[in-house]
Amino acid sequence: MAKKAGDYVERPGRKFGDDPVTIPVPEDLMSEPGIPQRDRDVSFFSREYPLENMAIEESASAEWSREERERFTPESIEFFNEHYETMEPIVEWVRTSGELEPIGTPTDEDVTELIRQKALELGYGEVGFTRNDPHYVYNTRKPEIRKDLPHAICLALEQDYRKTQTIPSMEAEDTHFGTYADQGPLTMELTEFIRTLGYNVQVSGPTWHYGPMIPMFVAAGLGQLGANGQLLSPHFGSRARLQIVYTDANVTYDEPIDYGIHKFCQECKVCVDRCPGRALMPDKVWYRGVEKNKLVFKRCRPVMTRYEGCGVCMKVCPIQKYGMKPVMEHYIATDGEILGKGTDNLEGFELSDKGYFGPGKLPSFKRDFFDMPHGRAEDWILMEFRNKLMENKVKNGDGENEDLMWEDFRSKMEESLEGREVSVDMGMDRGI
Ligand code: SF4
Ligand code: SF4
Repeated sequence: MAKKAGDYVERPGRKFGDDPVTIPVPEDLMSEPGIPQRDRDVSFFSREYPLENMAIEESASAEWSREERERFTPESIEFFNEHYETMEPIVEWVRTSGELEPIGTPTDEDVTELIRQKALELGYGEVGFTRNDPHYVYNTRKPEIRKDLPHAICLALEQDYRKTQTIPSMEAEDTHFGTYADQGPLTMELTEFIRTLGYNVQVSGPTWHYGPMIPMFVAAGLGQLGANGQLLSPHFGSRARLQIVYTDANVTYDEPIDYGIHKFCQECKVCVDRCPGRALMPDKVWYRGVEKNKLVFKRCRPVMTRYEGCGVCMKVCPIQKYGMKPVMEHYIATDGEILGKGTDNLEGFELSDKGYFGPGKLPSFKRDFFDMPHGRAEDWILMEFRNKLMENKVKNGDGENEDLMWEDFRSKMEESLEGREVSVDMGMDRGI
């Protein structure tokens, strides 16, 4: 017996010039457009517990991660160094993009469709407009974000399909980081176009962001939040890299959409079951005013670090692999089956030193595999120093030379602050 479609969502085709597609939303999966949210709680947490960049908030494990990666995948070092050099001028441009002046003179015309067409022509796969939401700005970046750009243009650039299916691998890292590099010149051209229309811009990403982006993509109707913590967009799921251009251009906002993903993930849970680190929580919780599946960072980073950025949760997602339309059509036609679930085609992955894992099989790790420093690097170094000092006191004069300990502490602290310039795994932001 088939299920019923409760709604149909019409979206532009996958590539510029393609026909629009119609995606059925199964009746039993309908909930609400975008993401279930309690606005007052979002405001409360944003005010009392401001968001911070992971590169700062978890900088202790970022440093650890760099060292571990050198040990586990030395072949990746040259790759990352090259990527860093490629990105250097792009990141510098992104950071200073807010200083660029408009080139033309604005008219009263609504320029939404002009900008959308230009972005699609350039190759962006999803383009949407919403308000620049100040709740999603990192605390340390608040002084730098312009307060006079009320709108957000959300842009998703698809990464290579074939290479992504080889996750985790250096080939997949190549398309992941290559897509960041591609974003640079595309945004330069798009923002020049917007400036020619007479408007100001400020760019968030790649590799240097003012804050988390997914909430604004969801508000702009470009997808919904998956259980893997990623944006599931209609054509390529999470196989995309995201950017936002803040602007004062005269635009009209898109609306959030219910594609059925919020409930679909509760039926699917493939990413939850396949995560090698058991880092994804099966049930949704309310967190910072939003209902979502939480990722346990301390179980994810050790896997990402040792296995080429991991990303199994992206690879095994049926929306990423097959697209939303076939997945939802299959769900309706088969009375609730998840396309690809239980098959090697969707669920299989390989870890370099452990071999292949098909459906139902997961790797095991020694207990100390997940040991890593937590929190901010400076706090961690200070805590280590304090513990050593206390141990020394117990030894009552028989311990280490305290001057040497102090010097060691100082050099670690300096090294750690310098290290913030470098982004680490999965294209996380730079700390400064
Ligand atoms: S990146 Fe890997 S370890 Fe982290 S949540 Fe995804 S599947 Fe799990
Ligand atoms: S794998 Fe399934 S549960 Fe996970 S994000 Fe994709 S659709 Fe949602």
